[in-house]
Amino acid sequence: MASLLAADTAAQNVYGGRRAARRPMLDTPPGHGRYCPVCRCWYRRFLPFGIRRRRQALCPGCGSLERHRYLWLYLETALGVTTRRLSVLHVAPEDGIRRRLQDCRAIRYTSIDLHDPGAATTMDATRLSFRDRSFDLIICCHVLEHVQDDRAAMQEFARVLRPAGHAIILVPLDKNRPQTYEDKTITGTEDRMKAFGHPYHVRVCGRDYGDRIAASGFNVATASSRTLSAHTRRFYRINRLTLFDCRLPPIN
Ligand SMILES: [Zn+2]
Repeated sequence: MASLLAADTAAQNVYGGRRAARRPMLDTPPGHGRYCPVCRCWYRRFLPFGIRRRRQALCPGCGSLERHRYLWLYLETALGVTTRRLSVLHVAPEDGIRRRLQDCRAIRYTSIDLHDPGAATTMDATRLSFRDRSFDLIICCHVLEHVQDDRAAMQEFARVLRPAGHAIILVPLDKNRPQTYEDKTITGTEDRMKAFGHPYHVRVCGRDYGDRIAASGFNVATASSRTLSAHTRRFYRINRLTLFDCRLPPIN
């Protein structure tokens, strides 16, 4: 995850919006504007974010993006995380989701990152120091596209996950690409931008990415934000996203 350092530290310059994210616009009456399910607040609008400056993307209160809002909805509604006793590992934690999970009394929460001081422990996702079967839930959102040996991280997730647990993985997917594209000889930020469409990504994840996760020892189910109603997607400002809900095969 060494490349993640560059991604995180440079992200504020590349993407923009982080400073503005600290200025909540809490004067919007409920029912008007945008609603963030992560921080549970209304705002006049969400802020632009990303290399392409996506409009209405960033929650000005908690900094959530479209994918974080979908991820949270999935965690809350599909997995019921706020009502369960869980041991959670959050990889490269997003502030808003971290706070929500830490607010849940029944959740034993820890987070890792190579460089983010907001994470509980400095640790490489490809070499976890946790014991086998330590966690009921692992959350890893838009991290593995930065990790050269992403298969090693997946195998570590499979090792530390409990038998009935879930590893929730999101990566940016290029649905037009049947196979994941990567080339380890491409290392510079400009070259990666040309090859992978992002200065800090080490691959373009294609439609086969779920198969790659499965090859690391998981049964992989996919969830799509397209199953949400158009109204819900507009309400929370969620774009088209796919989430991998990964579980260990049953023990015979
Ligand atoms: Zn928010």
